Amino acid sequence: MAQFNLGSQHKKIKFVGSITKSKITNSSGCGALVEFPGFSGIMGGQNLWDLKGTKKFRIHEKALEDYLKKDYFLQVSSEIQNAKGYEEAYKIPVLRFPEYYYCPSCHELDYARRLAKNFGANKDITEPLLCSRCKNVELIPSRFVMACEAGHIEEFPFFWWVHRGEKCENPRLMLEYKGYSGGLESIIISCATCKKSNSMKNVLNKEATRSLRCNGKSPWLGKSATCDCGREVRVLLRGATNIYFPDTVSALTIPPWSTAVQKSISENIDFFKMSFVNGVSESARKAISDNFFDDNGLGEILSCTKDEFFRQLGLRLTPNNQQIIDPSDFRKDEYRAFVGADVNDDMFKTESAQIDERLLPYISKVKLVKRIRKVNVLTSFRRIDAFSQFSAPLSDIAEKWLPATEMLGEGIFIEFSKISIENWEVRVGSRYEQMKSRYNDNRMGRGICSFSNKLVLVHSISHLIMRELAYSCGYDAAALSERIYVSDEDSDIWMAGVLIYTTTSCSDGSLGGLVRLGQKDRFMKVISSMLKKAIWCSNDPICIETQEQLDNTANYAACHACSFVPEIACEFGNKVLDRVAVVGKPGHEELGFFSEFNRNT
Ligand SMILES: [Zn+2]
Ligand SMILES: [Zn+2]
Ligand SMILES: [Zn+2]
Ligand SMILES: [Zn+2]
Ligand SMILES: [Zn+2]
Repeated sequence: MAQFNLGSQHKKIKFVGSITKSKITNSSGCGALVEFPGFSGIMGGQNLWDLKGTKKFRIHEKALEDYLKKDYFLQVSSEIQNAKGYEEAYKIPVLRFPEYYYCPSCHELDYARRLAKNFGANKDITEPLLCSRCKNVELIPSRFVMACEAGHIEEFPFFWWVHRGEKCENPRLMLEYKGYSGGLESIIISCATCKKSNSMKNVLNKEATRSLRCNGKSPWLGKSATCDCGREVRVLLRGATNIYFPDTVSALTIPPWSTAVQKSISENIDFFKMSFVNGVSESARKAISDNFFDDNGLGEILSCTKDEFFRQLGLRLTPNNQQIIDPSDFRKDEYRAFVGADVNDDMFKTESAQIDERLLPYISKVKLVKRIRKVNVLTSFRRIDAFSQFSAPLSDIAEKWLPATEMLGEGIFIEFSKISIENWEVRVGSRYEQMKSRYNDNRMGRGICSFSNKLVLVHSISHLIMRELAYSCGYDAAALSERIYVSDEDSDIWMAGVLIYTTTSCSDGSLGGLVRLGQKDRFMKVISSMLKKAIWCSNDPICIETQEQLDNTANYAACHACSFVPEIACEFGNKVLDRVAVVGKPGHEELGFFSEFNRNT
């Protein structure tokens, strides 16, 4: 859990609420709107974070640091205990936003600082704001905010909405609910001075704010952060899901960075960096040798020989020439690590599993992934459209770090047979053209892969397996995640695989249960049971006949009853799915990758 306060400018730390730490790279990163009882705020940017005492929250991931050109990542946590055994919670700043409030009793609508009798820097932010005209009536924050596609966000211009460009000398705005529909049309904004009024009915339509332009405000970077923008603005409801889409880059820690030696180098990286100028300096070499290694060059703490240690240190501190240019390149390296020889590292441990011969035509490799470490870094965010071409910054200054989360876990890696996939691709022909154009129009899959038929197949299988694990093996569906490995056409490596994994944020990793399901007999059971189920969906025949669903989701035969998983588990927002790709459909069995298997078992 991480806790909030009201910004490092404030002397007294005020507890607002807490969130689980994975949310920092998820729904509650810098610039996100957050809700607490009686308080609505915006998560402060990196420039407002107090870095004092945060050294213990630093984490390292060499490949991500090279790619993002950062020195370290910060994983805030309250799970660390200090020397006296107390939890030391890191406080992330949160600023009040929106600042427009109204009184449900006298209906007055204004900035909190003018409306509340108890507003002031010395007041506890969590204390409800009370109307200065009514007795003990709590003010309510406005539901409406205005944002542009570049991520700026500002107060909804209530004065303009009521007066429509006309002047009013001494406006007094009111917000009232009229009628019982509960819809936006029942919210009436009026001016007590000039008696003009307007309902909020069409406020969410693009047309409603056509004449307005963005003022370039970035309240998460501090109150005064503005720039020239001038883009179109859209009105959003405070709790709407399209108000915040985090941009994250994630990577698994793989060889050569996953060893115990690299782990201890990471933990002392500042010291080693200081001692490294075109190689390890003589004095540093001596200090390290004296402190960590005995006369025979053996080190107990660093669990390797002195020579090996200095080799690994050189590797770690040498700038990486093989620059990763796109986050999808991380997956190529990970894929190579999975399909290659078994690894027994501190942060990456794999073991080849035997495969039932009935599955061999379809599945070429199953790896029991006994240990993985995944680092997920928040790099920026978007508003209004998840795949908008603009992203908003987390800070207004250049930072040498980014917020991140580190997860340890285990899983099963599955690689599908190249020959069988190529045969299947011939059989499906142009079936996925429509899905492809939707995928491209919506700029989906950014940082993962571009569209291909085999993406539909691998992704659909991944979902069916996750559901099977949840149904038959009692796994909590929200605890499973997928990591999809599918190569683009022009890629230097052919990939068609998936890692299904579970993580915990605790240091002891998870329980080993998932890995066991990758063993020969159990895995065969999981796959054959999942394939039997996939033939039928309770929404059939509608589901199986759907080639283009009405809601623009880039799905064919896939719905809540057969293919969807909890949002958090999926890399593609429950899109790019088609059950037919896996098991075919009546009269068109050739469309299914596993149709033959189903017939024979
Ligand atoms: Zn009042
Ligand atoms: Zn007026
Ligand atoms: Zn803007
Ligand atoms: Zn269905
Ligand atoms: Zn998915």
